[in-house]
Amino acid sequence: MTTPVNVTVTGAAGQIGYALLFRIASGAMLGPDVPVRLRLLEIPQAVRAAEGTAMELDDCAFPLLAGIDIHDDPTVGFAGTNVALLVGARPRGPGMERADLLEANGGIFGPQGRAINAGAADDVRVLVVGNPANTNALIAASNAPDVPKDRFTAMTRLDHNRALSQLAKKADVPVSQVRRVTIWGNHSASQYPDVFHADVAGTPGATYAREDELWLTDDFVPTVAKRGAAIIDARGASSAASAANAAIDHVRDWVLGTPEGDWTSAGLWSTGQYGVPEGLVSSFPVTSSGGAWQVVEGLDVDEFSRARIEASVAELVEERDAVRALGLI
Ligand code: NDP
Repeated sequence: MTTPVNVTVTGAAGQIGYALLFRIASGAMLGPDVPVRLRLLEIPQAVRAAEGTAMELDDCAFPLLAGIDIHDDPTVGFAGTNVALLVGARPRGPGMERADLLEANGGIFGPQGRAINAGAADDVRVLVVGNPANTNALIAASNAPDVPKDRFTAMTRLDHNRALSQLAKKADVPVSQVRRVTIWGNHSASQYPDVFHADVAGTPGATYAREDELWLTDDFVPTVAKRGAAIIDARGASSAASAANAAIDHVRDWVLGTPEGDWTSAGLWSTGQYGVPEGLVSSFPVTSSGGAWQVVEGLDVDEFSRARIEASVAELVEERDAVRALGLI
């Protein structure tokens, strides 16, 4: 049997963890021939619940599942890990200021970055899902000086998938015929979903944007950016299955590559592309091949898009400055 890939999932007993682990174990993330060993990392008070999830995983008898370990110590939980999905995060509590939220998450993602630095496998790939995802990724990467910065990513794939789906609805075509949308900036309400370079069953996305600017500004952009809140409103709980699905899509494309002629979106450590300051984790249009992401360069960004990208990047700068002031990076 091939050596199993070690996959660590933090917040494993949470909602997203519950929707994620079974799909990883089934082979949906790394492929149908790749065995996986799952490491469930939780805070001590949630270890018991993680044990229950592990029992259910056992009961599925997944042929690819080579083992399950449960930990509450990041040093052990990340030792030798190849893929780390950082899902657990501190939610914003009542009356909590943004600085408090960033500080609480610094207390989680700083130690996790150090544990990854100390013991993860040389090929470790990290996806941060827990919010504020971009800045949590920045904190983790900054605390892992020996791990290349391009191994730390933040999830904007759910926003990307939401944008594909909304554009397909507008054009009344199957979602499989929509390609090359982009999420820029922060995974927050300030994100900018960009249709201008999209291909919609052969029609440029720009055509839809220019023919109906009101649809773009008052419908498409806010619907994508505020979809999470709309789901909480309707479902009475935050999105979990779609977030887990997006995490699977992100890692699968990272490891196995993006389809020819298409791209996706991911939060990556900026090296200055499109004027995004170096060292921010910002969402870009990206392709993957050979197990590494590349930012799609050279796209024409008009004034309309530029203003929106800059606004979201300005929020990332503020978050970075706040965690710097707190001594977290
Ligand atoms: P969820 O599993 O629903 O969410 C986990 C994180 O994912 C949250 O930060 C959430 O952000 C974020 N998220 C990112 N994108 C999305 C999206 N599109 N939709 C919904 N959430 C998204 O949270 P639960 O409270 O059910 O579970 C969290 C688990 O994490 C708990 O079991 C807790 O014990 C654990 N935990 C583990 C830690 C660790 O391993 N060290 C540290 C802290 C917590 P948002 O809050 O903005 O919705």
